Amino acid sequence: MPVPFRHDDSDELRMMLDTVDRFMARHLPPEDVRRRDRDHRAPFDLLPLLGDTGLLALPFPRTYGGAELPWTIVCRVEERLGYLGAMLGTLYDMTVCFGGMSLMSYGSEAQRRAYLPALIQGRLKFALALTEPTAGSDAAGIRTRARRTDGGWLVSGRKIWSSNAGHSDFMVTPCRTDPDAKGHRGVTMLLIPPKAKGVHMTELPKVGNNTLSSWDIGLDEVLVADDMVMGEVHNGFRNLMSTLHYARAGLAASATGQAQLAVDLSLAHARERVQFGQPIGKFQVIAHRLADMQMRVDQARYATYHLAELISRDLPCRREAAQAKVIATEALQYVTHHGMQIMASAGYSLDSDMQRLWRDARLYTFGEGSNEIQRNIIAKELGL
Ligand SMILES: Cc1cc2nc3c(=O)[nH]c(=O)nc-3n(C[C@H](O)[C@H](O)[C@H](O)COP(=O)(O)OP(=O)(O)OC[C@H]3O[C@@H](n4cnc5c(N)ncnc54)[C@H](O)[C@@H]3O)c2cc1C
Repeated sequence: MPVPFRHDDSDELRMMLDTVDRFMARHLPPEDVRRRDRDHRAPFDLLPLLGDTGLLALPFPRTYGGAELPWTIVCRVEERLGYLGAMLGTLYDMTVCFGGMSLMSYGSEAQRRAYLPALIQGRLKFALALTEPTAGSDAAGIRTRARRTDGGWLVSGRKIWSSNAGHSDFMVTPCRTDPDAKGHRGVTMLLIPPKAKGVHMTELPKVGNNTLSSWDIGLDEVLVADDMVMGEVHNGFRNLMSTLHYARAGLAASATGQAQLAVDLSLAHARERVQFGQPIGKFQVIAHRLADMQMRVDQARYATYHLAELISRDLPCRREAAQAKVIATEALQYVTHHGMQIMASAGYSLDSDMQRLWRDARLYTFGEGSNEIQRNIIAKELGL
């Protein structure tokens, strides 16, 4: 069962979700998801086609080719992509939440005009190169330096684990521009093309998310022109923080969609697999486990929809963004862990969708700001 419509879904929303369903049936059916995952072949080729459907335009102003629709719709689209083909959902998320919303939140007017229309058409890819070997959760500890030079900046340092950086057009790269400033101060966001002179890229092997490539990036006196500065000089962390709730909403929505798929696969198996003369779903221990799994997915869904509502209304949502990220990613891990137990050998087979969901899920509780860090944020918002 794909993510269901809700009784109060608008016609506009139903139309968007129909568009997702038709697109995925045509361009990324389940057998292609399996094949691409096995071959480590990212669906970059589908991004311009997705652009043609208008789905990449949803939250952006009409001036730049956008559709000016609320985040309640963006999140529902992301949830559905998570269910039908999370590998494309991740690209959608990186393009809309990360690339597009960074431009909207702190890009210059010239940068928005130059890049947003192409991004909405699926012709421009952004990556974030924040993490460094000595700065993971403690992102304010970044050491990559940008020194002033004539008409721009010279960047030296190293970034790791940047998703899709080697296939991107631009890496949004926080660099320390004021060496005397400590922590979150003195950092500036620079747009660096991976093909620029002095950029050295090495791909990192990893356990899951096979179509999301990860990169180790050496930066050796890379010249970045002034018009590639995004946002205020020395104030890059504040810029970055202003976009995190979009990325958390996108991740929570995708995790919710993936979690619902894991429940549906487990349910189908529990109905079909007969042992000791009855479907295994008739054993109360399995039935209760499935009940718990669906409850966890519904909690993730409500937390995510609530966050999307707050974003749509432009209301403060720091705590709700952290909560939705934690609830949805932990729901995904819970349902894939128990889904694997219910499907047993059938789920462990490399032909199964469950093993992919189970492998991929492991990343989400520590990626994009670990769940410990999210709990720190929630506790701080509670005044602790
Ligand atoms: C597949 C993949 C894709 C990624 N994509 C990107 C990307 O596109 N761009 C990018 O910049 N980075 C990316 N990352 C990096 C990712 O954001 C980091 O892995 C993450 O921030 C955690 O950092 P770390 O791995 O260095 O762990 P560490 O920071 O070393 O943390 C280790 C453990 O300590 C815990 N911990 C640390 N500090 C605290 C604290 N104060 N309180 C409680 N617990 C704490 C953490 O929660 C974690 O459990 C990616 C990573 C992976 C694996």
